[in-house]
Amino acid sequence: MSSLKPGSTIGILGGGQLGRMLAQSAVQLGYRAVCYAPPGDNIAADVCVDHFENGWGDKAALAAFAAKCDVITWEFENVPLSVLDALPAERVVPGKRALEIAQDRLNEKLFVEELGATCAPHMRVDNEDDLKRAADRVGTPGILKTARDGYDGKGQWRIASAHEAEGIRFPGRTCIYEGLVEFETEFSVILVRSKDGAVKYWDSTSNRHEGGMLVRSALPAGKLIEAQVEEARNIAGQTADALGYVGVLTLEFFATKQGPICNEMAPRVHNSGHWTIEGAATSQFENHIRAVAGLPLGGTETRFAQIEMRNIVGEDALAAHQILAEEGEPHLHLYGKKEAREGRKMGHVTRVSNSAD
Ligand code: AMP
Repeated sequence: MSSLKPGSTIGILGGGQLGRMLAQSAVQLGYRAVCYAPPGDNIAADVCVDHFENGWGDKAALAAFAAKCDVITWEFENVPLSVLDALPAERVVPGKRALEIAQDRLNEKLFVEELGATCAPHMRVDNEDDLKRAADRVGTPGILKTARDGYDGKGQWRIASAHEAEGIRFPGRTCIYEGLVEFETEFSVILVRSKDGAVKYWDSTSNRHEGGMLVRSALPAGKLIEAQVEEARNIAGQTADALGYVGVLTLEFFATKQGPICNEMAPRVHNSGHWTIEGAATSQFENHIRAVAGLPLGGTETRFAQIEMRNIVGEDALAAHQILAEEGEPHLHLYGKKEAREGRKMGHVTRVSNSAD
């Protein structure tokens, strides 16, 4: 299988921190990175040789971007499908199908359920009456989520009781109502699949979310997760195979007393995999680039007994350099975002150790 030659250009759709870290890996491997995103704080551009700040509907700009790129990938799943239609399909990896599925929570759930995954009980909801019916059938408490465009807990409303379901102002677009899962902890399966179908998995961290947003990932993940990883990997691996996926794919799970419940799929590198930069033989970012470039995949083995990744959010970033004075050689990553707004992911810090403490 032919691989991308050094000096080739990898295009990245999206301009955030995931794109920035993908571009860093691309550059490390001797490629040039170019990103494309609508105007904004596109921090990926800091490490790209070129960047496009144009709307998703700008056909001329997309054509100019494509002309520069030998392969095109993405850093987030809400790139409009019309963008992919405007790009040469044979050069877009992992490929449109993965985005089509992952952009819609309903499609996503049906897709993994077909492969044997268990998801939270759920119903499609298009209006207030549907919501009342869903709260009645699925039960309360539950969560109403917009089917599309939600991330980091945005576009979600918790509903404690049937009475509360009646009082909700419906968002006016297709939603999914899910029963609230009583989980012990959360984890994700992150895998990389090569062009010839080989799959490697990183260890699954235990993930803690606050307000719908990941705040911490840690290893060892604990007995419950360790006992459920195999089943979860099986679903994730089947998902990747069914999509003919190439690159890094993430599936998020709740670890419950009854087994793993699949929450969602992210067809991309993932926040809960940031620890792999220092903690694994090859990072998720490097292996994604290797996969889309057709290079041999690197090992995914964990290199330390204990690993913890914490996100640095909002104004905490302003004092983040102080972390460097702490013992234990913390690995600090700041994303270079201009405004430290509340709830905004500004960076992360990874601590690794082989000590027994
Ligand atoms: P999501 O946007 O679907 O990834 O949800 C973000 C976070 O909200 C999850 O990681 C959970 O912490 C929480 N959450 C989402 N859906 C459910 C659910 N059905 N039951 C319990 N917690 C949930």
